[in-house]
Amino acid sequence: MSSENGARPTTEHFDVLIAGAGISGIGGAYHLTKQCPGRRFVALEAQDGFGGTWRTHRFPGIRSDSDLHTFGYRFKPWSGAPIATAEKILAYMGEVIEENGLARHIRYRHRIVSASWSGEHKRWTIEADRGDSGERARFTAKFLWMCQGYYRHAEGYTPQWPGMAAFCGRIVHPQTWPEDLDVSGKRVVVIGSGATAATLVPALAGKCAQLTMLQRSPTFYITGRNAIELAETLRELKVPEEWVHEIVRRKILKDQAVFTQRARHEPEKVKQELLAGVRKYLGEDFDLDKHFTPRYRPWRQRIAFIPDGDLFCAIRDGKASVVTDEIDCFTESGIRLKSGAALEADVIVTATGFKLNVLGDIAFAIDGKPLRFGESVTYHGAMFTGVPNMAWVFGYFRASWTLRTDLIADFVCRLLKHMDTRGAGVVVPALRPEDRGMPLSPWVDVENFNPGYVMRGVDLLPRQGDRMPWRHTQDYWSDKDDLPAADLEDGALVYG
Ligand SMILES: Cc1cc2nc3c(=O)[nH]c(=O)nc-3n(C[C@H](O)[C@H](O)[C@H](O)COP(=O)(O)OP(=O)(O)OC[C@H]3O[C@@H](n4cnc5c(N)ncnc54)[C@H](O)[C@@H]3O)c2cc1C
Repeated sequence: MSSENGARPTTEHFDVLIAGAGISGIGGAYHLTKQCPGRRFVALEAQDGFGGTWRTHRFPGIRSDSDLHTFGYRFKPWSGAPIATAEKILAYMGEVIEENGLARHIRYRHRIVSASWSGEHKRWTIEADRGDSGERARFTAKFLWMCQGYYRHAEGYTPQWPGMAAFCGRIVHPQTWPEDLDVSGKRVVVIGSGATAATLVPALAGKCAQLTMLQRSPTFYITGRNAIELAETLRELKVPEEWVHEIVRRKILKDQAVFTQRARHEPEKVKQELLAGVRKYLGEDFDLDKHFTPRYRPWRQRIAFIPDGDLFCAIRDGKASVVTDEIDCFTESGIRLKSGAALEADVIVTATGFKLNVLGDIAFAIDGKPLRFGESVTYHGAMFTGVPNMAWVFGYFRASWTLRTDLIADFVCRLLKHMDTRGAGVVVPALRPEDRGMPLSPWVDVENFNPGYVMRGVDLLPRQGDRMPWRHTQDYWSDKDDLPAADLEDGALVYG
């Protein structure tokens, strides 16, 4: 950044610097203004607007796959249908910014490229490339709040199959959906059957000449009405929206806790229930075994909610079909499968997931040494050994991400106030003598949760220990008690 005479770079100083203005960054900004008023902070966002995931993804039909009562913040009622479009989620976030005067704290088109900690000065120096002027801006901050998400926004993950270059049609990743793509009259193959594919297929159904969902293996889905009966009843009773939001959140969370327990203790029964939900749409004659009966037990991977069974209606009505097979290679005219069958296509959509990017592709250094994040051990999944004055919001996969955004915000604000009370300028997690030598395991329990993008990058992620506070449970129901109760003076956090 240049000073007024345009000659010298200037450095702006803040108490807290938030990286990213997605649902986590906006949540962090809100909580800072409420819980730590008076603290100077800025949120730097690479894109030209807020929203993160919900701004980046523009493919047809883009919607949440969890309910907005829990994906919404705890402090702002959600009054629409539980499964919401990206547009509605962005509007909701826009209201949070507007109602709380957060816009003045956010700098768009600021891509953070480096973050360097100086133990001597007890602060971070953050450099960001400005998308508007092309200049580099410099900031210093006492505390860094990483809300940069977990995947690279610029491009999705596309596996490399033989023959891709020979394919004469168009290969598209949903994360970078081309504005000019017109599928009418085209034969479209969507590779994948996760939440993205399950959203795209009903949105494209009826709009193209032929539509095929090609999956290597089946996925579990939950079907249901895109409405919550309890919310409807409460609204009929003219209960205020704040109450509706809180009551419905509690109900959903309770139901999810029961479901998770059941998936663990009676997986076969849960599996049959989920399959019955699909069979209701596809009928007895459909080969459910081949196409919709996964090999893993329920909850091992995120289960996408299919509102009003729209994916299955598209298949039932002949507007889409599902093929379960493996890709042998791409050909000039489509895909050859390992079974020997061929799928002719004009457009191939690779709904094959994300490129995990740990810490927003930012070059981190601690006192001049590059940070090797994969070598650190996490403190409650929020802070990291050897990394001072920094917290990361990494939300839930099985519950709504934002539940953790709120919990971590409470924790960070409590920690900042505690540091003030103590007169500390530095806080860094460090293994206590009794923790040294404890068994370490990957960031997530790969036996229980193993989506491709996590498995591809698990070595880049910090490790966890076998006891609190070094565990990263990915479990909202334990975090909601553990995080608020975390003892900031138990020796695991070292102050300076
Ligand atoms: C299609 C799709 C649907 C999903 N649906 C759900 C759902 O229904 N429920 C659920 O719980 N989860 C869902 N998720 C997961 C979802 O990503 C998270 O729930 C949540 O939106 C993540 O919010 P975030 O703010 O932490 O990160 P993001 O949304 O990824 O936002 C991070 C922001 O940080 C910015 N940023 C990153 N690096 C830098 C940098 N170096 N400098 C400056 N800015 C940077 C990015 O530009 C981005 O705006 C979905 C994900 C996808 C892709």
